[in-house]
Amino acid sequence: MGSETARETEVPKAKIPEIRYTKLFINGEFIDAVSGKTFETRDPRTGEVLAMVSEGDKDDIDRAVKAARHAFDHGQWPRLSGAERGRILRRLADLIDEHSDELGALETRDGGKLFLVSKLGEIPTCANTLRYFAGAADKIHGHTLKMAREMMGYTLKEPVGVVGAILPWNFPSIMFFSKASPALAAGCTVVVKPAEQTPLAALFYAHLAKQAGIPDGVLNVVTGYGPTAGAALASHMEVDKISFTGSTEVGRLIMEAAAKSNLKPVSLELGGKSPIIVFDDADVNVAAELATMAAFFNKGEICVAASRTLVQEGIYDDFVKACVEKAKAWKIGDPFDPTVNHGPQVDKVQFDRVLGFIQQGKKEGATLLTGGKPCEETGLHIEPTIFANVQDDMTIATEEIFGPVMSLFKFKTVEEAIERANKTRYGLAAGIVTKDLNTVNRVSRSLRAGAVWINCYFAFDNDAPFGGYKMSGFGKDSGLDSLHDYLNTKTVVTPLFDSPWL
Ligand code: ADP
Repeated sequence: MGSETARETEVPKAKIPEIRYTKLFINGEFIDAVSGKTFETRDPRTGEVLAMVSEGDKDDIDRAVKAARHAFDHGQWPRLSGAERGRILRRLADLIDEHSDELGALETRDGGKLFLVSKLGEIPTCANTLRYFAGAADKIHGHTLKMAREMMGYTLKEPVGVVGAILPWNFPSIMFFSKASPALAAGCTVVVKPAEQTPLAALFYAHLAKQAGIPDGVLNVVTGYGPTAGAALASHMEVDKISFTGSTEVGRLIMEAAAKSNLKPVSLELGGKSPIIVFDDADVNVAAELATMAAFFNKGEICVAASRTLVQEGIYDDFVKACVEKAKAWKIGDPFDPTVNHGPQVDKVQFDRVLGFIQQGKKEGATLLTGGKPCEETGLHIEPTIFANVQDDMTIATEEIFGPVMSLFKFKTVEEAIERANKTRYGLAAGIVTKDLNTVNRVSRSLRAGAVWINCYFAFDNDAPFGGYKMSGFGKDSGLDSLHDYLNTKTVVTPLFDSPWL
């Protein structure tokens, strides 16, 4: 982020805790990188350097993986009873709740997220994710098999081993626990590589994990850059699985690295270009509220952002008017201010990228109805932006923007809505707004997306599996499906009686 964009904003100092953890966490200790190098993490509200954080590289990843390997092959964690692992994970959940103020503030300072949403929403969600998987840790079991011959067969569910978790910057805490919780509950050991834009929360969680009693080597955090630390983790021969959330381009690199090293399995939660489809029978005001929230929440920095709003022709004009009014009333400012709807984009790179997409939309002939500019008096803030007359093949209709930009499309029939909603290489999520049950059933079953939210949006839940179709990836975060992504199935067979096989 260039200092030329760094402008002073009013910061409520009282809420700002000192940054306590900035070093790599390997084998239960905070340590410097082998190279001794550090990198800056900045506050996107002001451009100020928040902290210098250890820059982990290949050697540090290797140290962390060795620690995790040792903890898996020889340590207690995979050998503890599920109940005991669950007990320790619940203790960590309680510690997270106790520190929700500090953790919420850390998220706001590192990523520009709304403080209240972090403190009251995301941080407690992390604690509850841990509790959900803690409750599953003592219910991991295989099946008895109905063998055709006189043999007894059963399956064992075993932890996959050392897990590498590579995280994005938009939800640093939620992503940390959506991967670490099922992995730890399954009995795996973990090396986390947080995003370089938002490294601080992960280090704080490492500290809390130690305090909760997670043994040394079981949970390691290596901060650093993607092409160095991230790539080293993805290609490491001693890592048994990679769980990644981020862009489709990097997902492809990770899959390649896994293929070229030890063929480790990967779970990839990638980009999206999610549609929300609003039918004629919807309440215009409620639908507009839902669609603007679905497009602009978290400054549009969310992989499931409803960046394509498909509206049936009968209510189109009224709906567009309502959305524009709501976007204009959306308050932009300091994310510590509880009345603010959104804060700054995470960094200058993203800020420029989003503005670039907006320029492209104008150039390709979409009609800008509102927004489209940085906010004058602040740093990396961008106005909520709405485009009409968007064609299906325009850049803003096909590329993931990751910013507060809504594109409007008008449709006539249910068939047309389904076809155009599916006209994307992505398939992460979709929304439907209608009171008609037949439309709900037909459209929800026809959409090629991993999550379909009807008359709601962002309906995440610990028990609801989440993951994509098509180029949005594969594998699940959340739900018991995700626990099974961290387990291998072993089949054990023995003859029932004296056997000619012996
Ligand atoms: P974004 O484009 O939204 O910044 P990325 O997909 O680039 O998201 O990054 C998500 C995560 O992937 C980050 O932790 C980043 O450091 C990591 N990463 C980036 N490049 C690579 C790579 N070549 N190999 C492994 N991880 C990477």
